[in-house]
Amino acid sequence: MLNKIVLASPVTQSREAVKQLITQDNHGQEPTEMPSFYRLTGEMVLVLNGRKDAYYVTTPKTCSCPSATFRPGPCKHSKRYFPQSMREAATQESIRPKLPAFKPFDSLPSEEKAAAGVA
Ligand SMILES: [Zn+2]
Repeated sequence: MLNKIVLASPVTQSREAVKQLITQDNHGQEPTEMPSFYRLTGEMVLVLNGRKDAYYVTTPKTCSCPSATFRPGPCKHSKRYFPQSMREAATQESIRPKLPAFKPFDSLPSEEKAAAGVA
């Protein structure tokens, strides 16, 4: 029986699995929309695929996308999310994943309205 998990080759995750993961990270709050990528750690990113039905697991050296499987070297996801400088800085990155769905505080539409109008 083959039931070993091979950590050396990441496995594409279903959209639903990633949603559950984000919900857990958000203390039980479901994401309002699924992000195009979700950084798990400094060295692992989930990247939404072209059909938007699954997430590739991307690390600086490997990726679960078809391109990475059939071609040597880092695929476009590894290159995009782990440019050379970032690979070196990865260990210094915060443990908390970034939340790409969130805009900076001062650019929220409601904040702009408040600043321009009523107050
Ligand atoms: Zn890839």
